[in-house]
Amino acid sequence: MSGEGVIPNRVSITRRFKRGTICCPQCNSDALIRDSDQETELTKALWIMCGNVDCGMTWKAQISFVYVLSPSAIPRADLVLPKAPEGYQRRVYAAGPPAAGPDPNQFNMFDEGEHHAAAAA
Ligand SMILES: [Zn+2]
Repeated sequence: MSGEGVIPNRVSITRRFKRGTICCPQCNSDALIRDSDQETELTKALWIMCGNVDCGMTWKAQISFVYVLSPSAIPRADLVLPKAPEGYQRRVYAAGPPAAGPDPNQFNMFDEGEHHAAAAA
């Protein structure tokens, strides 16, 4: 067994994110970012090496700024960053099932008057 074509299990993938490694596109093994260069203010080049000795591929990748989701509280007049498309939402969650009725274990803040009246009686 040489290890080519080995797909890491879920634990390995979770560990990869914690260590800052990425996946080799050729053999799916963990790969390490060995060096980086800030190419522009919004683009960084990454020099990456596959950790699988049987693969041994090295490559260049890029991280680039795409757009602002929430603006910075520190303004910079010399930097104009693209904004997210109008109405952009990263995820849309489906609504849960409709409630059958009011939860008897939940205090209703709108019934305060009735609650006091009942307590006084
Ligand atoms: Zn590889």
